[in-house]
Amino acid sequence: MDEAPLYLRPRLEPPLAPLLGSSDLLHTLADALGSPLDVLLPDRIADNAERFADVRRAHRLGGREFFAHKANRSSALVRRLAATRAGVDVASIGELRHVLGAGFTGDRIVASGPKDSDFLWLAALTGATVHIDGPAELDTLARLVRDHRLTPVRVLVRLSGFTAPGVAIRSRESRFGVPASALDGVLDDLERHRDAIEPVGAAYHLDTVSLDEKAVALEGCLHAMHALRARGFQPRIVDVGGGFGVGYVQDRDGWDRYTTELTRAVLGERPPLTWGGHGYGLRAEGGAVRGSLGLYPAYRPDAGPAYLDALLSRTAPTLGRGLGALLLESLYDLYVEPGRALLDQCGLTLARVLETRRTRAGEPMLRLAAKATDIGLEDHGVLVDPVLLDRGGPDPGPGGPGAGATGPAGVFLTGSLCLESDLITRRRVFLPRHPRPGDLLAFANTAGYCMDFAATHAQRQPPARKVAVDGEPGRWRWTLDEHYSPVARPEGRSV
Ligand SMILES: *Cc1c(COP(=O)(O)O)cnc(C)c1O
Repeated sequence: MDEAPLYLRPRLEPPLAPLLGSSDLLHTLADALGSPLDVLLPDRIADNAERFADVRRAHRLGGREFFAHKANRSSALVRRLAATRAGVDVASIGELRHVLGAGFTGDRIVASGPKDSDFLWLAALTGATVHIDGPAELDTLARLVRDHRLTPVRVLVRLSGFTAPGVAIRSRESRFGVPASALDGVLDDLERHRDAIEPVGAAYHLDTVSLDEKAVALEGCLHAMHALRARGFQPRIVDVGGGFGVGYVQDRDGWDRYTTELTRAVLGERPPLTWGGHGYGLRAEGGAVRGSLGLYPAYRPDAGPAYLDALLSRTAPTLGRGLGALLLESLYDLYVEPGRALLDQCGLTLARVLETRRTRAGEPMLRLAAKATDIGLEDHGVLVDPVLLDRGGPDPGPGGPGAGATGPAGVFLTGSLCLESDLITRRRVFLPRHPRPGDLLAFANTAGYCMDFAATHAQRQPPARKVAVDGEPGRWRWTLDEHYSPVARPEGRSV
């Protein structure tokens, strides 16, 4: 290779890092269960929930952490979480049934997202807290409670479209929630439904990395709490949703260098880094770069619990005091609903290298036994390198695939569908050496949204199977996801 490799090395912590060091186990699992294969580390989700709880307690707040289930359909993850104090946020009746089966009781469940009457009824029946997304949903819920003689349902009013007087920042548009400016109407509705509905607080969920926007939203919720109290309700929960983020890439320098070179490539100042000159949102116009980089900020030192800490430590835009202090002063409980951030370091996706070939321009291209939808990193704008797990075994000999190729290699990764657009990456990925057929690529940190959110059965190619692994090197135990139990089995064997 005639250019310096531009690595985007994954951020790896235990138990993900030692698992990646156990290449024999991963090869054995992929041999037995096929490629692609999702490997989950349920113990880590329990640790992550505890780290969020530590931040909440450091601000002396009561409350609970809720895992946004939509980020991964695994059973092992929710069963492991059921054995902690954490709760779960469900966005469909299927997810609600799933977590009830895993052992969650209604007091540890919030139901969010678009809901039909079946979903509302089961949430009400089981005592879940329901995010109210609009007046129609509220009316339906109240009618169900009356018709079925249910106990009054706890609801959180989900708000969006916050503004703060005299502050230029406003929260972004959302198609969910009640516009903060329409709160009065909802309060009227809540008064009508006093017999059936118990408003316990206010909520938002904003899909942004901007702390400024979230501070405006959180202050907006404090105003809504005040308005609820003025109508004689006794709200006690502020739910700040999810969106705490994950740092995928290990070092800042690598990330900065990569994005700089990507911009130079778009301008034609260096050889292309991507398939067909794809610019991830950037384009060249008259010698200047236009557009905006549509990438996840993969290097994020302040993600996850640290982001929550930064939000709570921030000064409220108009009230002029710390947001955490304002919550504490009113003795409000804090709910958080991280999806991606609770799944940080909770797993990886394995894909077998099937074939290496060269493009017409002579660039190496690897075909993997996986579809692009099985490894959703690229789809979520997350650029991070896979880890190459050597198959070992005999050298392929002179002229064999990848033979003689030592040292770093830049390769395109393509999927197993008969479809031009089935690209696992649209960029050249730099690896420490040229992979050979039979090697595995391990895509680290895929558990949040990048395993099954968009997985399909296209061409009758099944999505990845899931296995759950716990333990440590030399003492790993694994089970199919659907057979996982948080109770240690004395008869279990480790490998
Ligand atoms: C998706 C979602 C979340 C989780 O978002 P992350 O970005 O994965 O943390 C939390 N709450 C609600 C209401 C959601 O829709």
